Amino acid sequence: MIVIRRDGMYACPLVLCDACGRWITGKGNVYWIEPKGVGDIAKVWFVHKPGCTGLDRVIEQHTGEHVHDEDLDTWLDHLRRNTALKDTHD
Ligand SMILES: [Zn+2]
Repeated sequence: MIVIRRDGMYACPLVLCDACGRWITGKGNVYWIEPKGVGDIAKVWFVHKPGCTGLDRVIEQHTGEHVHDEDLDTWLDHLRRNTALKDTHD
């Protein structure tokens, strides 16, 4: 899940692993079940990669649906583009 955590004077956005609950500071994966119709939305899950990647099979067993996945860094690039935010580091 995406959260915000107080760190000294600042509140910092973080991604927490939905499998183990720890902060993802390296490689990660994002899982989701494809929305069925136009305009439908779906929950996403974040996990450490490769350590916590078995969550996709658990989700599939509970929902009976195929779980899609993407690298966390690629998914965050899509998120930034879909919110029309410019990369301030260019
Ligand atoms: Zn984890």
